[in-house]
Amino acid sequence: MPVTGQCYCGAVRFATAEDPQTVAYCHCADCRRWTGAPMPAFAAFAIEDLRLNADVTEITHASGVARRNCPACGSPLTARFPYLPDQIYVPVGLLDDAKDHPPVVHCHVDAALPWVHTDDDLLNENGSARDTLGLSRK
Ligand SMILES: [Zn+2]
Ligand SMILES: [Zn+2]
Repeated sequence: MPVTGQCYCGAVRFATAEDPQTVAYCHCADCRRWTGAPMPAFAAFAIEDLRLNADVTEITHASGVARRNCPACGSPLTARFPYLPDQIYVPVGLLDDAKDHPPVVHCHVDAALPWVHTDDDLLNENGSARDTLGLSRK
């Protein structure tokens, strides 16, 4: 199924041909600060499958992670991690049908804020969970 979404202001829209490979909460401080969310969640897509309607420059502030923000409104758009070279991550809240793409795993649970709840039925992984995330659903 195609998946579409956009930034806060709508200047950047994106589309993919396939459903997310996985959807994950990330509790690391880097993703938390990037999104401003205490418990951000991201949808992973095949890197060659995600199409943006605009050229947006990637920036790197920490640990080799390449991130893009909307140049007009600043929304977090995409993140690429060096240890997951085939995937690109989009904050799941940007998806037009985010309700259809629930997270399946908590990553970096060891870094979670003490007042967020991770005691649900999802996988809990300390650290990046790169092995879990790298598994495609295809
Ligand atoms: Zn925008
Ligand atoms: Zn993270």
